[in-house]
Amino acid sequence: MSAETHAMVIDGQWRAAAGGATLASVNPFDGTAWATVPSATAQDIDDAVQAARRAFDDGPWARSTPLHRAALLRRLGDLIKENADELARIQVRENGKLIREMAGQTTALANHCYFFAGVAEQPSGETLSSSVPDMQVFTVREPVGVVAAITPWNSPVSLLLWKLCPALAVGCTVVVKPSEITPVSTLFLARLIQEAGFPDGVVNVVTGAGEAGAALAAHPGVDKIAFTGSTAVGKKIAVTAAERLARVSLELGGKSPNIVFPDADLANTVNGVMAGIFAATGQTCMAGSRVLVHEDIYDRFSKQLTERARQIKLGDPLDPGSEMGTVACKAQYDKVLNYIEIAKAEGAHLAAGGKHPEDPALRQGLFVEPTVFTGVTNDMRIAREEVFGPVAVVIKFSGEDDAVRIANDTSFGLAAGVWTRDVARAHRMIKRLRAGSVWINNYRKTNHVAPFGGFKESGIGRENGVHATDEYTEVKTAWIDT
Ligand code: NAD
Repeated sequence: MSAETHAMVIDGQWRAAAGGATLASVNPFDGTAWATVPSATAQDIDDAVQAARRAFDDGPWARSTPLHRAALLRRLGDLIKENADELARIQVRENGKLIREMAGQTTALANHCYFFAGVAEQPSGETLSSSVPDMQVFTVREPVGVVAAITPWNSPVSLLLWKLCPALAVGCTVVVKPSEITPVSTLFLARLIQEAGFPDGVVNVVTGAGEAGAALAAHPGVDKIAFTGSTAVGKKIAVTAAERLARVSLELGGKSPNIVFPDADLANTVNGVMAGIFAATGQTCMAGSRVLVHEDIYDRFSKQLTERARQIKLGDPLDPGSEMGTVACKAQYDKVLNYIEIAKAEGAHLAAGGKHPEDPALRQGLFVEPTVFTGVTNDMRIAREEVFGPVAVVIKFSGEDDAVRIANDTSFGLAAGVWTRDVARAHRMIKRLRAGSVWINNYRKTNHVAPFGGFKESGIGRENGVHATDEYTEVKTAWIDT
């Protein structure tokens, strides 16, 4: 089977890279290089930024009304719903996540478009005159300009729409640089954006590796960089942005604690902790990768978690019966296995998993068994660094203060889970945990209405919710002498 050839879109034109270089997209389940995309050059990136600038400064988009932008977002939502199956299948081929996870996630993205269509129609700005004598004072919010949206591979379409919807709602234009692992799903979405009727140049996509992302972030024509990815790259982007004080929002990594108190409903908690770390093969920024368990139930809980982890059925991610897919690429696979070796060398006890599965049917896929380490302490690298794979570490704590101390003893602050039946304790924990999302008796919930983002090295800014548009606007204050 020959590989599909895909073009990227700049100013409404589908084209190859200047010079014709390409990148392959490899299916992590069977190792086939099933598609190629252009490897954008500096010239392509400049063309895309110029196109976005023209569309922002002049033309139909510059004159568009909130009502019109809302109508286009609603149409895009409809198209996502109609094409959700295909969009989900492409993502599975690219990153090896389960079809049953991707299908639900992709369909729900229509709601994202509908929600931000509503936000686009909301009046913005404030009248401040009552506090300022003899002056008419008011604020307006204006679109920040050309946005560079740089995205990772784990939920390529969701994480892009989390940026596109608010940016387009307020009238920005965008140049997207998807991950080199998952470019095809983004190009498919770009076709839907075109079909929805967004004018040429409003959403451009340049495909390529990290160098393309770096060139885009450094382009002087970009007013704002909206980035989701690793903390290491996020820091580089922050430095680049600082050179010209470009606006920046960063959604970065995590090492989130999932804290189990002895009064929790254990059956429910084991299910939640399992989903927190093993859903999406552990490849989510919010993975509950540090499982903190009270000493009174540590042995019992660890045993149940270990037994359940061993029962997870690995398989073809496109098979609805599979319970865990592959990791996304060879580099990630090597990284996860390397962290397992590090944990063993540090003295953590390997209770489940820890290697490629023995089933011959899974030989060529990038599978890693669901892995549980017990006897872990929070100073070990396996407890401090983001693995981004199906590896849970179980850490013992002695009481509420100890749990908070361990949970907050991390450079990250994306999310935390707490399992308890004690309502007062739940409220205390919400207050004390230094994380952008805290889930009580559930884990990994996100929704278009709920802000999401990180404390500390997990990022800057928030996506989702009505205030997500603040990340894509400048506030202008007007003073009229009356
Ligand atoms: P990554 O940082 O390696 O790459 C992300 C994107 O940045 C890709 O498009 C890549 O090509 C590009 N890139 C690489 N080097 C660059 C550079 N120097 N300048 C500009 N762009 C560059 O991340 P990844 O491996 O694709 O994704 C996994 C990471 O993303 C994990 O750390 C995960 O926690 C994080 N993540 C965070 C969130 C969140 O919302 N906080 C969501 C999903 C993933």
